[in-house]
Amino acid sequence: MDRLKVIVVGAGMGGLTAALALRQAGYEIEIFDRVPALLPAGAGVSLWSNGVKVLDRLGLGSALAAAGGRMERVCYRDQHGQLLTDFSLEPLVQAVGERPYPVTRTELQRLLLDALGPETVQLNAECVGIEQDDHCATALFADGRRARGDLVVAADGTHSALRAVVLGHVQPRRYVGYVNWNGLVEHGDGLPPADTWTTFVGAHQRAALMPVGGERFYFFFDVPLPEGAPPHPAGPRAELLQHFAGWAEPVQALIARLDPARTNRIAIHDVDPLPVLVRGRLALLGDAAHSMPPDLGQGGCQAMEDAWVLAHQLLTNNLGVPDALQRYQHARQQRTTEIVLRARKRSEMTHGHDPQKTRGWYAELAREDGSNILGGIIKTVLGGPL
Ligand SMILES: Cc1cc2nc3c(=O)[nH]c(=O)nc-3n(C[C@H](O)[C@H](O)[C@H](O)COP(=O)(O)OP(=O)(O)OC[C@H]3O[C@@H](n4cnc5c(N)ncnc54)[C@H](O)[C@@H]3O)c2cc1C
Repeated sequence: MDRLKVIVVGAGMGGLTAALALRQAGYEIEIFDRVPALLPAGAGVSLWSNGVKVLDRLGLGSALAAAGGRMERVCYRDQHGQLLTDFSLEPLVQAVGERPYPVTRTELQRLLLDALGPETVQLNAECVGIEQDDHCATALFADGRRARGDLVVAADGTHSALRAVVLGHVQPRRYVGYVNWNGLVEHGDGLPPADTWTTFVGAHQRAALMPVGGERFYFFFDVPLPEGAPPHPAGPRAELLQHFAGWAEPVQALIARLDPARTNRIAIHDVDPLPVLVRGRLALLGDAAHSMPPDLGQGGCQAMEDAWVLAHQLLTNNLGVPDALQRYQHARQQRTTEIVLRARKRSEMTHGHDPQKTRGWYAELAREDGSNILGGIIKTVLGGPL
């Protein structure tokens, strides 16, 4: 189908990647976001090779390589700093033909916006519903604006308003049982090697550092906490010092160096896999379609895969938009369901849902030579569309 007009709701990494793929397919696009200014939520993101391949295909490969971190090795240590495993990521690169690139969210957003052009996103536009008939779909905004196109892409994130339009009911988000803190910190004394993704594990908690561009690490901490546990009144440093008291020196160095004002604190949620991803001329994409815990680092990568597959299905179909969207759903549903459930399972294992299983995982890490962990990542990457 040519000369389609696509309305994209949401300018996160899913919406922007979809808009770019659809524009490169030759379609007219309009992007809307409810925020008054586009500031990325969160600090960093690890783009595994399947997400990177989508950006390669959209012409952003070398820009991403320049912005991303050079991550050569993976290392796990226990909370006292004792080595569990340390291995090269090279077998992954050799198996799938592309590197992973951890990158700051600001850099990733800049790459996508630069490729789209600065005036593309219409701001202060909160989508509250859609109307559709046999010929078109119209997004409706809180301020009375309307945007009409051949289809609407709902890339409105984990709190998606348009998910309920597709499903016919509200699907609740589910607290997975832990809180995550994340931010950026410069390389430096006392921190682990700059080319290594280092994770300290113990007591069902994690503290990790991943190299991103600009001689910085993207760091994160996870702690299982009851639902609704309030933040420490003295801020994230005090809270992390409390949870990670007695942990290894590099963890203490990280807590000492982080900028509390730029450390995010997020209660991690997911959403049960959805029975449908499309309705007529409306397609869910990214976290709107599949919200998962970040334990596989695949949420954003799956949003990018969605974007590529959606553009491909529209480009290779002449039966009409609803038919192409059905094929998009067919191509994405099983894959994303499987990844949501794997991410949930991994989150439970990592965070002591069943303490015996978490102890077993620590023991496995001590025996790991890289082949199991890399095998899982390779399978995920090779299961993607590119
Ligand atoms: C702690 C953490 C770590 C993560 N780490 C990784 C990782 O390493 N690798 C990875 O691949 N993924 C990771 N993820 C997942 C990744 O962040 C998400 O999967 C990704 O951001 C989803 O992109 P999206 O565009 O679908 O949604 P979002 O990025 O949430 O964007 C949604 C956009 O829609 C807008 N919006 C919402 N409602 C409306 C409305 N009604 N009208 C108009 N606009 C609206 C919002 O303002 C926002 O700009 C992580 C997530 C978390 C929480």
